[in-house]
Amino acid sequence: MNIQCPNCDTIFDLPNPEKSNKKYKCSVCQHIWLEKSNNYVNKKNNKSNFNKIIILNIVILLLVLFAFIFFREQLENIDSHWKNFYLLFDRLIPI
Ligand SMILES: [Zn+2]
Repeated sequence: MNIQCPNCDTIFDLPNPEKSNKKYKCSVCQHIWLEKSNNYVNKKNNKSNFNKIIILNIVILLLVLFAFIFFREQLENIDSHWKNFYLLFDRLIPI
């Protein structure tokens, strides 16, 4: 885990980051601070946010797919391109 000095922004690579709320002393500027292992918490939040985005994308994709199926007749009446588009899908997915 990388720990950054809040005073001079020097990044230190530490091999044992398990202990939280540990005191560190910067070897560059001699600044002492308490590290609350915020980096680890942020990484966890980022991962859950990433999962949420994937789920949201799947839901949107399903809604678009549903709309395409539901409004097929209306879209086919608007333009012949849509008709060809649906024919292509009919050939790909034999129902
Ligand atoms: Zn420092």
